[in-house]
Amino acid sequence: MILHIDMDAFFASIEQAINPRLKGKPLIVGSRGNRMRTVVCAASYPAKALGIHSGMPTREAFRICPGLEFVAADQAKYIWTSERILEMLRGYAWPLNYASIDEFQLDIGPHPEPLKLAAQIREQIYANFNITASVGIGKNWLLAKLASKLNKPDGATLISEANFSDILSRAPLTKLCGMAGKTGQILMTQGLKTCWDLYLKMPGYFDENPGKFEEAGQNPDLPKSLGHSYTLPKPQINHRVIRAWLRVLSEMVGERLRRQDLTSRTVHLWLNFPQDGYFAAQKTFSIATNDSYEIYLRSLKIMARIPQKAHKIRALGVTASHLNRQTYLPLLTEEKRREALIKAFDRINSRFGDNSIFPAQVILTHK
Ligand SMILES: [Mg+2]
Repeated sequence: MILHIDMDAFFASIEQAINPRLKGKPLIVGSRGNRMRTVVCAASYPAKALGIHSGMPTREAFRICPGLEFVAADQAKYIWTSERILEMLRGYAWPLNYASIDEFQLDIGPHPEPLKLAAQIREQIYANFNITASVGIGKNWLLAKLASKLNKPDGATLISEANFSDILSRAPLTKLCGMAGKTGQILMTQGLKTCWDLYLKMPGYFDENPGKFEEAGQNPDLPKSLGHSYTLPKPQINHRVIRAWLRVLSEMVGERLRRQDLTSRTVHLWLNFPQDGYFAAQKTFSIATNDSYEIYLRSLKIMARIPQKAHKIRALGVTASHLNRQTYLPLLTEEKRREALIKAFDRINSRFGDNSIFPAQVILTHK
């Protein structure tokens, strides 16, 4: 049996837990700090009740509710809370799946009292983090996830053999994972309105799907670091060319991280000067990444620490460490776009060969 835990209005709830003045109020968390020129990335339940939802331009949200409370997203805070919840759940010693930043699944086996367990976990989350979660239980993750949405916020639902047809015939099709978008819309126009309608047509859709559970206590072997270095044909002083090489190396590091489904929090930069020895420094960031451009920007930040003096550079290296498995999907709209771009980039290069597509800046290394 799978137990799916879905945090209620996660980002908004964290903001309310930190600032009790916001509790119970219509609140939106904006992707960016400019309140009128960004999109909603989370809405509190009172805001949702007014029809405000994530993805909506904030301007529209303020038109619906001019008194709306606004907070700019602070990802590091949400990731930190999410990781603490994950640690707490690891304490249960069941196989665990970190499904997204605010969704967790436990494979609880044939548990005698799953609803009692769900209540216990919800209480524990509330006691520790002052936020609520909804829990769904079902024979596989798809059903468990569906169940978690049926009694939101702060509720729990068990889909059992006994209530299967009853619950599914009351659950709108669009609540089912994979059916919120176009596929669901198309099926709706074909008369499939509820999950039960889909079950009658395609029972296979509800079959066992293993998901990605980590075994309890398992600590998968991760590489410690991953890097690339390059020795220039001749010492180089032109900073635009040096930055272009840094970009090449960052692209290579990012590509390898993504291929292995890893993210990194620490960038290590190493530069060799033909006359004056070398410079090496590293910096750890609060947000993990495998975006090559972000790795490049981080290495530039480290390079800015070199005392002001024109250096010829002979060789350079970029290494990513503090590696972890990629655990959640991008949170903000801009990041989702960015991720789609990177995926397309990787697909083109894997299909047509490395360097079929590359950042324009890299051309400077051909000089
Ligand atoms: Mg949620």
